[in-house]
Amino acid sequence: MIDLHLHTKASDGTLSLEELVKRAEKAGLKAIAITDHDTVKAARRIKELETSIEVIPGIEISVYDNKLDYIDLHVLGLFIDPENAKLLSTLERLEKEREEQKKAIVGKLNELGYEITYEDARKYAEGQIGRPHIARALMEKYPQEFRSISEAFDKLLDQSKPAFRSRTAFFGLKDAIDVIHEAGGVAILCHPGFCRYKTEKLLKDFKALGGDGIETIYDYEHNSGWREITDNEGINKEMKGWAGKLGLLESGGSDYHGPNKGAELGVFDVPDELLDRIRKHL
Ligand code: AMP
Ligand code: ZN
Ligand code: FE
Ligand code: FE
Repeated sequence: MIDLHLHTKASDGTLSLEELVKRAEKAGLKAIAITDHDTVKAARRIKELETSIEVIPGIEISVYDNKLDYIDLHVLGLFIDPENAKLLSTLERLEKEREEQKKAIVGKLNELGYEITYEDARKYAEGQIGRPHIARALMEKYPQEFRSISEAFDKLLDQSKPAFRSRTAFFGLKDAIDVIHEAGGVAILCHPGFCRYKTEKLLKDFKALGGDGIETIYDYEHNSGWREITDNEGINKEMKGWAGKLGLLESGGSDYHGPNKGAELGVFDVPDELLDRIRKHL
């Protein structure tokens, strides 16, 4: 069993790299990938680890492509070189854009009458700040109104909700694929079953722009929050079909963010042969 989509404290997970790897060992996973949002801070430290399992450096890059109109798509880079200069300079830029976006979201919340500050959200983040940290600040200040992170997304923070602000700077789908390739990795479109776009067009665009694969084994049920998805098997089967049709690699992971958030590590079963095929492709 493997798991190719995991978050640490460097983004919006709650475990450190070391804690996550220990848990993965205990859960009997043979290989895992560290895929934080827009940062390789934890991935860069993989080489210092003492562990018997394979730990693959990765990244999950957010796309804000207002030309193709793909807003907040996530692209996974697996087997990237986390020291790649082009990757690091790109991430430095994205980090600033991410921060500006989160500040704009806090500003919008203030306009809507929610009195939280950027620092309130910052408190919950050790690395990259994300909307889940803003959600926690809302839960702290307004516990009656927001009893969970999902509730804050449902009412305010999701892309279709009143406090969402997009990023002002352009970062296209092709930019994400290219920088992952430049860093020696494979580019995988994340959780295609969550995307609000027409699946066929999105996957064909992704392939045409040089994308290598898609997640065909993803734990939608435990990551859907308020969206109430209960059909992992159905969605994943559909995506597997598309991967076959379009000649895309398959990847899979739980998108684990830490204990008490979704499913426990090692429960969601991703077969080893997916990794063998990705490695052959590389
Ligand atoms: P951001 O980095 O600010 O774009 O936030 C993205 C992260 O928010 C995702 O990776 C999820 O961890 C989390 N997220 C997105 N939608 C929801 C939701 N409906 N409920 C709970 N968490 C969510
Ligand atoms: Zn996340
Ligand atoms: Fe994601
Ligand atoms: Fe993720």
